[in-house]
Amino acid sequence: MKKYNFNAGPSMLPREVIENTAKQILDFNGSGLSLMEISHRAKDFQPVVDESVALIKELLEIPSGYSVIFLGGGASLQFMQIPANFLIKKAAYLNTGTWAKKAEKEAKHFGEVVEVASSADANYTFYPKNFEVPADVDYLHITTNNTIYGTEYRKDFDVQVPLIADMSSDIMSRPVDVSKYTAIYAGAQKNMAMAGVTVVIVKDGMLGKAPRELPTMIDYRTHVDKGSMFNTPPVVPIYSLMETMRWVKAQGGVAEMNRRAVERADMLYAEIDRNKLFKGTVKEEDRSVMNICFVMNEEYKDLEKPFLDFATERGMVGIKGHRSVGGFRASCYNAQTVEGVQALIKAMKDFENQH
Ligand SMILES: *Cc1c(COP(=O)(O)O)cnc(C)c1O
Repeated sequence: MKKYNFNAGPSMLPREVIENTAKQILDFNGSGLSLMEISHRAKDFQPVVDESVALIKELLEIPSGYSVIFLGGGASLQFMQIPANFLIKKAAYLNTGTWAKKAEKEAKHFGEVVEVASSADANYTFYPKNFEVPADVDYLHITTNNTIYGTEYRKDFDVQVPLIADMSSDIMSRPVDVSKYTAIYAGAQKNMAMAGVTVVIVKDGMLGKAPRELPTMIDYRTHVDKGSMFNTPPVVPIYSLMETMRWVKAQGGVAEMNRRAVERADMLYAEIDRNKLFKGTVKEEDRSVMNICFVMNEEYKDLEKPFLDFATERGMVGIKGHRSVGGFRASCYNAQTVEGVQALIKAMKDFENQH
């Protein structure tokens, strides 16, 4: 049976990315060696890193003065590496969900943290937008898409302080004005690659200001200076990232990714709003186009498990909601297809007709 992958992360990738990466794992560039067996310093691998960086810069129209580096440790390591490098005295954090809260917690190891706004009391069902940022903070940290709760802010905040964003689950899904940011980071496993690599975009001129001795691996300058080759980078994940970036470009770039994301999300939210069994979980204007969360209406609560089984039998994978929200979550990252979303909508309609 055909499977429709709605996993929240690691998640669906374009089929050709998987096939091309698999070929290189068997025989890298006709060398007779696997991509898994070569040195990251092999002459054939440097072009993979170079092309990956070049494509990210091209697709996001990154201005000069920024570096793109590939690191380990996931977005979770960035929760501490960001404040280690950028927090001088005081930082502001916007608490929009589980990941935002974790980032905020780690920053407290390095200085004073001001929470400028939070939707925690409302179980993160909206994205706070009207907040004051103290003028004397070193940066404001935001999470653009809240993967677990399904809220998203798809614009670039105008703030008077340096802006830093965790874009793990919506990077490459829309054009971004990178010039507004001091740093953007993303675990690659939602929208860019297989798991194992983290992409960090940093403004070079902002590095080296933190008043602390940084361990070598934690200092972004180490990785900028060595072109992400200070230590062994994850070669297979980076290869898959390059393939995904080639795919995004061939499809028409991030503007086209945005158009498709909005198209898919509009279809699915329309069905959630129409279908008597279901309802959305977050404020309409803050609905994520990447992670679409919905639950059973009160009077149909008992049908949650039966619908999950029904949809699973029809090939839906990964639609069970996160435990902090319950219900369902359909993650629709760049590789998601209209066909996949239509299959889910069909399952929702057919299930409604039975009840
Ligand atoms: C998945 C996710 C993370 C955690 O990423 P890891 O790479 O597993 O550390 C952090 N932030 C957001 C917004 C995420 O979606």
